[in-house]
Amino acid sequence: MVVSGPSGVGKSSVIESVIERTRSRFSVSATTRQMRVGEIDGEDYHFVAEARFEELVAAGDLLEWAEYGGNRYGTLRAEVLDFLDRGQHVILDIENDGAHQVKVAFPASVLVFIVPPSLGELERRLRSRGDTSEGDIAKRLAVVEEQIRDAESFYDHLVVNSQLDNAISRVVRILE
Ligand code: 5GP
Repeated sequence: MVVSGPSGVGKSSVIESVIERTRSRFSVSATTRQMRVGEIDGEDYHFVAEARFEELVAAGDLLEWAEYGGNRYGTLRAEVLDFLDRGQHVILDIENDGAHQVKVAFPASVLVFIVPPSLGELERRLRSRGDTSEGDIAKRLAVVEEQIRDAESFYDHLVVNSQLDNAISRVVRILE
């Protein structure tokens, strides 16, 4: 299952609870972006240098990959296949391009897009998180409308996160 959504929508909280409730596994992506304070290598991401990322692409080790905000992100094929072989559900937190690639590679995958109740509410949440500069907030909001329109065209489910518990329950039901 792919769970995508604009930053600030509460995607991480949804994913965390869904994983707990359904005993699913999280696919830890490889990325070339800098580690943020509080992040753990191997848990949040596998943080790799550009050259290593190139190697992963060349070796076909990535199930999908995309560039986002000047950094590259990719899903490790072996990790996902290993979980699936063991009969476990896997949750991927990836952006729209990657979600599209996953649907092509695995037509049985389910794509969920989390939407904010409104753009104003998303702006408020981004600001209250306190880890995003005003410039970045403006940049992110500018792409959200397009992201949502894009998601409407190929995601299987759009889930509005106006109340976190309801959003979690909906995603759990979709997964089950
Ligand atoms: P962040 O840098 O804020 O952690 O993530 C930026 C964006 O990259 C988010 O939309 C996230 O879902 C997406 N992302 C994270 N990992 C992957 C991945 O492996 N593949 C793709 N295509 N996108 C990813």
